[in-house]
Amino acid sequence: MEFSHFNDALLSFLRSSPTPFHATDSMRNALLKEGFVELLEENNWVIEEGGRYFVTRNESSLIAFTTPQLSFSQSGWRMIGAHTDSPCLKLKPNAQVDRFGYHQLGVEVYGGVLLHTWLDRDLSIAGRVTLKTQSGDIVSRLVDFKDPIAVVPNLAIHLNRQANEGFSVNPQEEILPILCGAENDFDLHALLTSQLQKQYADLDIEMILDFELSLYDTQPAALVGLHKEYICSARLDNLLSCYVGLQALLSSDLQRPSLLICTDHEEIGSLSACGANGPFLDDVLRRLTPNPELYVQAIQRSMLVSADNAHGLHPNYAHKHDKNHAPAINKGAVIKVNANQRYATNSETASIYRDIAAEENYQVQCFVVRSDMACGSTIGPITSGEIGVPTIDIGLPTFGMHSIRELAGSRDAYGLYKVLTRFTQREKLMTR
Ligand SMILES: [Zn+2]
Repeated sequence: MEFSHFNDALLSFLRSSPTPFHATDSMRNALLKEGFVELLEENNWVIEEGGRYFVTRNESSLIAFTTPQLSFSQSGWRMIGAHTDSPCLKLKPNAQVDRFGYHQLGVEVYGGVLLHTWLDRDLSIAGRVTLKTQSGDIVSRLVDFKDPIAVVPNLAIHLNRQANEGFSVNPQEEILPILCGAENDFDLHALLTSQLQKQYADLDIEMILDFELSLYDTQPAALVGLHKEYICSARLDNLLSCYVGLQALLSSDLQRPSLLICTDHEEIGSLSACGANGPFLDDVLRRLTPNPELYVQAIQRSMLVSADNAHGLHPNYAHKHDKNHAPAINKGAVIKVNANQRYATNSETASIYRDIAAEENYQVQCFVVRSDMACGSTIGPITSGEIGVPTIDIGLPTFGMHSIRELAGSRDAYGLYKVLTRFTQREKLMTR
């Protein structure tokens, strides 16, 4: 895939993926278009040599893989991992709140949201609605209102003179979006019903039973900067890596068994049925290599590249970085290292990655957190700890991680795509 087409498709992927459900659906559609076969976990699987498959769990996590050969204990897997979720505001079950003449929504904070960035944004709502049809079936459908139907206005500086010296947001009282004035009737289930009817004309809705909905910024992803060298968007952490991994798998030449895993719930620790700290990957790999002896061989001949964004050195806050480990935007993906295993990188996986990047003439940067600061983590150490696969944690340098609008480099993602494509074709890993 060429550079400009790659970034155009990236922007439209970001726009069409306001929630993990939608991100999974976007990837599902891309895989189906390229001839991948969808497997259902509850059915028997028939895996053929030369096949391309994918499976989803909870509609919010996805594993896609190619099987150019079936002796996985000999070949191992070239695995790429990322996560589908991002910090956001989620609607509470009884979300309707009426205060001082306004209809508002009660929200829960999901993950480490940079709360003040959600103020003064044109917000919409998207997610999954579960309902009963007139024929008695319980089914789920994705909804996306697309229009800016909610807003959390700031407080005027005249009413908070200290706002520029330090700003706090109380998540129970101060981050509730306003939908409309109380002179209008508002019923959330009625609103969801009419949205579902708009999106799914054939759906006979008996009643809405439940939902998982979140708010999102309607400002679309865009290339910005004097030379359009930056991508600004919501959810770059970690849809950027989902997209790069997906394109790498689609471009793989089908020489080596390759696998992409994109899981939900990373931002809250990954412990769920479909999260990286759950059994999803293990369940899939055991179905492909049921023999326990061969299963371990397959894992130990594999490598996982866990891709999740890294902190670029922000010129306004340079003191937040170790000066020798200060990733720059548009200077290539970052190898993330942590002695305390918050990242799973080791000298061997890092060396293999460096070698592949060098073959592609792609720069390598390195991040380690300041020794007087706490380190973040990601799916790398969790997956590695679950199944024992040799793993490297890498990521594209970004600013404003967990802001409603994050910033990354418009040249970095394409380079990583080329490196990961080469990784899926790599025959030799370590020599022992
Ligand atoms: Zn992340």
